[in-house]
Amino acid sequence: MEIAIISGKGGTGKSSITAAFATMSQKVLLSDCDVDAANLHIIFNPTHEEEEIYIAGQTAVIDYQKCTSCGLCMEYCRFDAITKVDDKFVVSETACDGCQLCWRMCPEKAISMLDNDKSRMYTGSFRNGKVVYGRLAPGEENSGKLVCMVREKAKQVAKDNNLEHIVIDGPPGIGCAVIASITGTDHVLIVTEPTISGLHDMKRTLELVSKFNLKPWVLINKFDLNEDMAQQIEQYCKDENILFAGMLPFSTKVVEAMVNCKSITEWAPDSELTATLKSIWNRIINS
Ligand code: SF4
Ligand code: SF4
Repeated sequence: MEIAIISGKGGTGKSSITAAFATMSQKVLLSDCDVDAANLHIIFNPTHEEEEIYIAGQTAVIDYQKCTSCGLCMEYCRFDAITKVDDKFVVSETACDGCQLCWRMCPEKAISMLDNDKSRMYTGSFRNGKVVYGRLAPGEENSGKLVCMVREKAKQVAKDNNLEHIVIDGPPGIGCAVIASITGTDHVLIVTEPTISGLHDMKRTLELVSKFNLKPWVLINKFDLNEDMAQQIEQYCKDENILFAGMLPFSTKVVEAMVNCKSITEWAPDSELTATLKSIWNRIINS
């Protein structure tokens, strides 16, 4: 069973909820697909048994021994990634899209394309099973492709280790990395918060998920911070026939758990919050 936990925006508590689900049994594959800001490894401190390089596109590099400063590359670059600095043409690593046009156009063959090879995918073990996660290096692109790589690896590791649940921490937003995180999963849980922007972003996420023939669940986190808005969101789910997983109250225990590198399930196993999370988890996986 594969479940992806996503949110239309950051800061909803998605990763805390993922961490709670990941520590409900001893047979879990935790897949951190929030590759731009993977952070569950900080809580779980997994062993790193495998490290793989992810090539996130290419960057143009100029060989100044060959360059005659004709300026053609700057003229053609539609990403404004090449600028003239003190009579030298310089490529900005962050602006370069790797389109190769300058490499093809340079009359002196002074440009080469180098692989962006600083991003990584890690596989390891944590206290409740195995972990696979990706880390996109700053400025590197194609996060969707890295998520696909993480998910493929996660499925393989889960199969090899006979792990029954794959818990995916998806990225926030509605971009290609989110699409790569949810396609083909058994369940999608959208975590939202009781604010106008929470409702707005949840609707956008629901629209995205519905395009992939998935029937998502909605969970309102910290509902007691604005109970009127929480009721509006619940009503919206009822009206639109959307599976409603439930509501969680705000709790400082969640922060305490994170500070102590634990999930709320581990930190406060007898709390009402953990009981609610367990019941939500059971409802979803048995549906
Ligand atoms: S096109 Fe080639 S030779 Fe001309 S400025 Fe660019 S790198 Fe130099
Ligand atoms: S590879 Fe493309 S984006 Fe990068 S500097 Fe060359 S023309 Fe510009």
